[in-house]
Amino acid sequence: MNYEEMLDVAYAEAQTGFAEGGVPVGAALFEADGTLLGRGRNRRVQDDDPSVHGETDAFRKAGRQTDYRDKILVTTLAPCWYCSGLIRQFNIGTVVVGESANFEGHLDWLREAGVEIIELHDEKCTALMRRFIEQSPEIWFEDIGECHH
Ligand SMILES: [Zn+2]
Repeated sequence: MNYEEMLDVAYAEAQTGFAEGGVPVGAALFEADGTLLGRGRNRRVQDDDPSVHGETDAFRKAGRQTDYRDKILVTTLAPCWYCSGLIRQFNIGTVVVGESANFEGHLDWLREAGVEIIELHDEKCTALMRRFIEQSPEIWFEDIGECHH
């Protein structure tokens, strides 16, 4: 399985989000054989909707699936509690994480539930998110539900 190619789909979404002035987190849901089911990006700013994270957008775009154990969710950034809850709720089998340097997420909580976590420590994902956090810290802290002092 070429996880780097899958990450490219999520990263392209993150780049689009960045160009739109949004939080640059992209994600995509794939079949076990690598077939793309859905792709999306955080649209908190674009749609004035805090419930649209990259992961939830890709999940919704993929439509109904009968079983998620064999699915692969690829995201540019380690998932937040909200998206981690979605992963556990639907028993998504594999999560590919572009980077966890800017936000470490809750990967152990996912591993405890039997989710396979593949960390790519991708430099372009890390650089794009770092650039966004430096330029728009108030939006970033709003997105992760933390006050920024
Ligand atoms: Zn999230």
